[in-house]
Amino acid sequence: MLEVDLYSDPDLLNVAAFYPATTTLGPGRRAILWLQGCLQSCPHCVTPEMQPIIEVEWIEVEELAGLVASIDGIEGITVVGGEPLLQYRALARFLDFLKKRGLATMLYTGYLYEDLIGYPRPEIGHLLSNTDILVDGPYLREEDHGEMWRGSANQRILFLSERYKGWEWVRRVKKRDLSLHYSDDGRYLLLGIPPASLILEKGPTIR
Ligand code: SF4
Repeated sequence: MLEVDLYSDPDLLNVAAFYPATTTLGPGRRAILWLQGCLQSCPHCVTPEMQPIIEVEWIEVEELAGLVASIDGIEGITVVGGEPLLQYRALARFLDFLKKRGLATMLYTGYLYEDLIGYPRPEIGHLLSNTDILVDGPYLREEDHGEMWRGSANQRILFLSERYKGWEWVRRVKKRDLSLHYSDDGRYLLLGIPPASLILEKGPTIR
């Protein structure tokens, strides 16, 4: 389910994009990390350019974690994709590094939590033990009702640790935050989950 030859090195992450601080995807101010590659093909995926298993930018786990830990004023990171779990070996080390520095972690996956905890790789359990919030399941357009932090209502917001105890109310909110970041070379990043109408018109492009 998660085995990709390209992602066998536990020291390197294949990074599609990175943004240092936003309030649009998770509690408080947090960095956002997009990891390249996904084996699923959800119709109307918001990041189709991040589905191919191709090399984009390899960054050493400790270097990237050190960069995140050095950002002032953030409480943690949100990891999206693509499918972050395909890089589970390096991602487990990355999250472990951040948790040891007191940062909060939020993770999106197209797989179900039950399938992940039953997956026969110890790194997966390690990774989940260092995840505060997991948003699981594939994107389903017909279930897209504008839910906060979720692309569609079938996706669950799972609080795996005590850190965000009391935040269960977000599951009932149908309001998203979204901002656009333009870089000097004309590329843009969608920071947050866009409305379905935007996806209908054109899939956003990062690179
Ligand atoms: S799991 Fe996520 S990244 Fe993969 S195709 Fe579905 S929506 Fe896109």
